[in-house]
Amino acid sequence: MSTPGTAFGVYIHWPFCAQKCPYCDFNSHVRFGGWDEERFLAAYLRELNWVAQKISMPSHTASRTVSSIFFGGGTPSLMKPQTVGTILDHIAALWPVARGAEITLEANPGSVEAGRFEGYRAAGVNRVSMGLQSLRDSELKKLGRIHTVAEAKAALAIARDTFERYSFDLIYARPGQTPEQWRQELTEALELAGDHISLYQLTIEPDTPYAALHAAGKLIVPDEEIALALYEVTQDMTAAKGLAAYEISNHARPGAESRHNQLYWRYGEYAGIGPGAHGRLVVDGVRTATVAERNPEQWAGCVEDRGHGYTEITPLAPAEEADEMLLMGLRLAEGVDLSRLERLAGVAPSKAAIEGLVDLGLLQRVGLARDDSATWRGNELDEIAMCLGPGVPPEQPPAARQRRVGTFRETIRATPRGRFVLNAVVAELAASFAPVTPELFMDNRGAEH
Ligand code: SF4
Repeated sequence: MSTPGTAFGVYIHWPFCAQKCPYCDFNSHVRFGGWDEERFLAAYLRELNWVAQKISMPSHTASRTVSSIFFGGGTPSLMKPQTVGTILDHIAALWPVARGAEITLEANPGSVEAGRFEGYRAAGVNRVSMGLQSLRDSELKKLGRIHTVAEAKAALAIARDTFERYSFDLIYARPGQTPEQWRQELTEALELAGDHISLYQLTIEPDTPYAALHAAGKLIVPDEEIALALYEVTQDMTAAKGLAAYEISNHARPGAESRHNQLYWRYGEYAGIGPGAHGRLVVDGVRTATVAERNPEQWAGCVEDRGHGYTEITPLAPAEEADEMLLMGLRLAEGVDLSRLERLAGVAPSKAAIEGLVDLGLLQRVGLARDDSATWRGNELDEIAMCLGPGVPPEQPPAARQRRVGTFRETIRATPRGRFVLNAVVAELAASFAPVTPELFMDNRGAEH
């Protein structure tokens, strides 16, 4: 059904994988003896009930409409299709679901998983995101992946025929990879791509087998200069193919962006359900961070005992919201609307900090110095920025958006180079935060949530 309401996303974390990849620091676990799927299903449904109760609103406030659901992991394509269908039905019983809501499931491209695609489609999944990671068998082996390139291509063909939308991930900046090698692999990948592709640089995460190898000098990743060259190859080639970056690592044709991930980056509201899941819920008008127990069996036990598996339920202070909104929003090519930041958190970055970053070529002020090169999307960005999801209206009517509060009110966005060093850009801006007029902040804060 389609009911106007605040856009709301649901993330379901499935924590199990067939094998642990040596670079991975996600909350993923291997259970060679299998898992009790019925038990986990019951726990997911119960935690959903708890969240629905927690965020139920007084009748005079706006309702929520589920605009996207995302099954991530771990390897959600290890779930039975019936499990997925039961969870989707349960979500639809708790909240209105927007017509055409995006329902994504992450899948590994093995033949076993591909055999379940039809069942996921029947359950309601309309988008699949596949972890191909490389189009070179030798590289897949080094990444510890258990599928082959041939299997991945076969699974991709099935996905293309089964789902309305599909995407796949590749990892680049791998040990020894040169820009020319990446150019060749990316050329092949872009031939296989539909309207969305995710391209992640390999990062060495602490406490992984890759971190130990790296520390021992046995795994040497490209240095910063080569990594930047690889990043620029990626930006140029995807833009030339009509798949410009709309986020640091995500590329899509206009309108084909991952709406669920956009909800995160636009600092919307979402429930995180399952072991280790994070969420941002608005509870009694206050944005609240949730973090769930990471161990799957312990999480299920917590849910059975008290209705949820959260180990942290933390109301966020305005300053924390400002940091988060900036960090998430500057990942996006569309950038951050500073007037929204002011209304939400009551602060604004200083003009000097913004101009310093603009001078360094790391930041751009939209409307003052528009860059309509192929890397950006021109006017489309402004339109996309207005909406929170498919069929979901703009956050505010244009007149209200243009109302000016405080000193710096335009949208800022990181340039492609700025996104490459985003943490430093955000740190610089956050260090310059100054309070805006308190009355305007207090008047508008409720509306921003
Ligand atoms: S399949 Fe994905 S989630 Fe599982 S271990 Fe590998 S990278 Fe991590």
